[in-house]
Amino acid sequence: VNYSIVSNFMVVFIISRLLSTVGKSKPPAHSLPSKLSNMLRTDPDTISAASADFGNIVRETPAAVLHPSCPEDIAALVRFVCDGSNPSVPFAIAARGRGHSVRGQAMARGGVVVDMTALARHRGGAAIAVSWSRLLGHYADVGGGQLWRDVLEETLRHGLAPVSWTDYLYLTVGGTLSNAGISGQTFRYGPQISNVYEMDVITGTGELMTCSPDKNPELFYSVLGGLGQFGIITRARIALDRAPKRVKWVRMLYSDFSAFTTDQEHLISKNGRDQDGALDYVEGLLLMHKGPPDSWRSSFFPRSDHPGIVSLLNRHKIVYCLEVAKYYDDLTQNTVNKDLENLFQGLSHIPEFVFQKDVAYVDFLDRVREGELKLTAQGLWDVPHPWLNLFVPKSRISDFNDGVFKDIILERSITTGTVLIYPMNRNKWDDRMSAVVPDEDVFYTVGFLHSSGFDDWQRFDLQNKELLSFCEDAGIEVKHYLPNFGNEQEWTRHFGSKWRTFCNRKTRFDPKMIFSPGQRIFNRNQ
Ligand code: FAD
Repeated sequence: VNYSIVSNFMVVFIISRLLSTVGKSKPPAHSLPSKLSNMLRTDPDTISAASADFGNIVRETPAAVLHPSCPEDIAALVRFVCDGSNPSVPFAIAARGRGHSVRGQAMARGGVVVDMTALARHRGGAAIAVSWSRLLGHYADVGGGQLWRDVLEETLRHGLAPVSWTDYLYLTVGGTLSNAGISGQTFRYGPQISNVYEMDVITGTGELMTCSPDKNPELFYSVLGGLGQFGIITRARIALDRAPKRVKWVRMLYSDFSAFTTDQEHLISKNGRDQDGALDYVEGLLLMHKGPPDSWRSSFFPRSDHPGIVSLLNRHKIVYCLEVAKYYDDLTQNTVNKDLENLFQGLSHIPEFVFQKDVAYVDFLDRVREGELKLTAQGLWDVPHPWLNLFVPKSRISDFNDGVFKDIILERSITTGTVLIYPMNRNKWDDRMSAVVPDEDVFYTVGFLHSSGFDDWQRFDLQNKELLSFCEDAGIEVKHYLPNFGNEQEWTRHFGSKWRTFCNRKTRFDPKMIFSPGQRIFNRNQ
């Protein structure tokens, strides 16, 4: 470690305190193992990387970055921070997955960022172990810093795979479980947080605890969707099922919003869902006349069909695209087309605008990667991302279409990026968990996935504020996904009836409020 380049007081403090514990014949009760000193990085490149995230809007400089080799290294750091004998502590600690948050949620100003992917690179945290039990069936024990892409690859070796995904797989298990982890499978299998059997978590007192619905259940439910506030997930036991081989991937276009949502809701309903041959994935997106039919996230439509789609867009200005998928394997390859035909009966899309692909299962799940690589090559991946993700109650989705999609998004004409919209079933979410969703049986996720230039992200932010004001005035009770609020009043409102519980859990599991200050919930001044 090159200490001379470190100007921050706190890291000098950390390092000196740390070194004072090394080599003593009788170390204090909560002394750090000497190897930890080699794991704290303070070089400019490491600090700079930990000061930014995918959003490219917030910058917060940590004092140091920990590259742990095993969960115990993190626990030792936390115990050190909580050592009551030191008046200058605690300082903040933020677990960082891939830093794919958009508003600094994985940052720790003046504190220590724990690089969870370093843990994944070491044997201690890297293991993805596939097992079976009579009670659970197949499952995988996975390190908290592991990428979902790696989980997929390893489980496929056993002919298995998790059932609930995110659209993009280069996110960490600990990162998505701290939010929810949603995608087109959520309507059927629930979010990723609903597919966890057990976790190892390091609490704010430095204790490494195993938790599940039966063992330390309060910690288990706190951490899932807990925005990193209650502990650091070092292992999660994830549900697995038999992996399919291939996927029928279909898009259909609608000019009528009501027809579009009626069909989406039918496809995720009990009738459309719990029957043999049900869909595995239901999403949707907006196509707008200012943008091309394809987005960076996927090149789906055949080039030869672009003129027809563009002319449809010119006529309607806004077109709604239903996107569904059905998995199949050797056993079901002869029936999959018939199943799809049955499922699509009675849908009200524009008949000429149906597009189908047949792709390998891995290629379907990893569909966003191609777009990422393309944008990276063009230098357009690491730009500001003033994203806004909302959950909108089904009862108000039509008002949302009128007031937001038509009157704001179309009128302002600044959105050219992806806007996702798809419904999910509340009964697939567990209310004991920290994640917050609207109080209706069905609600939509709407994601405005904006990319902007470095000097114009504020334009998108203004639009985000404008549409939130519209919802407020119209009484549309949206909930934020990947929330970002600046004051306690907004957080109280966001959590609603869960706020008291959330605060009590914080006091219990992170009494010194050291974890994930970048969420700006409790420790806003750190
Ligand atoms: P980070 O951003 O590093 O961390 C997020 C929060 O979790 C921070 O507060 C951090 O301190 C905390 N944290 C991280 N690791 C741990 C841990 N092990 N234990 C406890 N707390 C931890 N989300 C979806 O749900 N569905 C999607 O389809 C989806 N697609 C995305 C596509 C892209 C291109 C991007 C950039 C993001 C997408 N996301 C999606 C959002 C993603 O789920 C969040 O960004 C999430 O934070 C995961 O990213 P991460 O692993 O980099 O976590």
